[in-house]
Amino acid sequence: MSSRTADATRDVLADFAARSADLVDFYRDLHAHPEHSWKEHRTAARIADRLRAAGLEVTEGVGGTGVLGVLRNGDGAVVLLRADMDALPITEATGLPYASTVPGMMHACGHDVHVTCLMATVEALSRARDAWSGTLLVVAQPAEELGEGALAMVRDPAFKTLPRADVALGQHVGPTPVGTILHKPGLLMSAATTVDVRIFGRGGHGSSPEVCVDPIVAAAHLVTRLQTIVSRETAPREAAVVTTGMMRAGTQANVIPDEALLSLNIRTQSAAARTRILAAIQRVAEAECAASACPRPPELTLSCDFPLTENDAATDAAVSAVHAELFSAEAVIEHGPLMGSEDFSIFGFPEHNNGTAVPTNFWFFGGTAWDTWEAAPGETPEEKLATLHGNHTARFAPDAEPSIQIGTTALTSAALLYLA
Ligand SMILES: [Zn+2]
Ligand SMILES: [Zn+2]
Repeated sequence: MSSRTADATRDVLADFAARSADLVDFYRDLHAHPEHSWKEHRTAARIADRLRAAGLEVTEGVGGTGVLGVLRNGDGAVVLLRADMDALPITEATGLPYASTVPGMMHACGHDVHVTCLMATVEALSRARDAWSGTLLVVAQPAEELGEGALAMVRDPAFKTLPRADVALGQHVGPTPVGTILHKPGLLMSAATTVDVRIFGRGGHGSSPEVCVDPIVAAAHLVTRLQTIVSRETAPREAAVVTTGMMRAGTQANVIPDEALLSLNIRTQSAAARTRILAAIQRVAEAECAASACPRPPELTLSCDFPLTENDAATDAAVSAVHAELFSAEAVIEHGPLMGSEDFSIFGFPEHNNGTAVPTNFWFFGGTAWDTWEAAPGETPEEKLATLHGNHTARFAPDAEPSIQIGTTALTSAALLYLA
């Protein structure tokens, strides 16, 4: 027997096939014109145009380049739907006919897919207003990749004047095969923090190390020693990552530089682990600099702070049940928690919602074409995923049309669960 939500979803999306070509064109245009975090001006303008055409009240420039849309359709629940808009500084190597036209910039995380699915959902719901009642809050968020956009939007006065949402929904395309949906009650994604470590040495002639303090040697020891924070100080059952993603010092062979800079990426799955690991980094950095006789202690700066992404269990159970009904039980996979990070859950935090937490649900949907998946080397999904071009790589290329259809169905059905 088909549920009311599944029936309503099929009705609301009955003309999807006829709309598909326009949506794919819109997606390809976004893909060809990627914009870096906080620079999403063209993308935001295109979104605002579409939302206005669909009859929404639209506010632009929310928290920077964010766009808010409101569709009021009678009494009922208030449902927040969110997509992110930013691209990454990666040179695209997909060879697609609609590949990036912006040198060194690429939609390598699929945020163009998310925006397209959001537009498709909102436009379908706007056309089928007699099939539901309630209020839609549409959020097009900038700067997800920096972990800054969600916070900037919820702090904007325009966000604070919105009705409080009853539920907030978001999704992400990934490298699993088209048709798969990844759900997880509770902890879905890790918290992330960037730590910049500035090491102060005493520069001089490369021939005279005895009168210098070499910050490169101190940095090299620090990089190695930082590896023991996870391997020797963290319980094996606890997932955590400390990656040195950037190391910068010096200009040429015969000059000992004054400073070295490291940039570390920290991923944790509990607040306690985050606190402990940050304290360990501080301790190890200070001790290594002292061991090298640095003239000053190191300077540590935190940025790119992503919270934990935690799904409300009851909401996830309800949404994954309707997804299983629409896509098949086998298509819905419980997966996670993942080491990746998102700032989506900020939209549900009590401090941004008049003191009461908004239940949130975030899921992943597959974007890899089935023939590509079948052809990938490896027997298990994990082996195949290791060889496929995933998010943040120059060859990440979701199979556009089915990905958009599935992402739209997933988002529309989750919204209708609360509105129909
Ligand atoms: Zn990303
Ligand atoms: Zn992303």
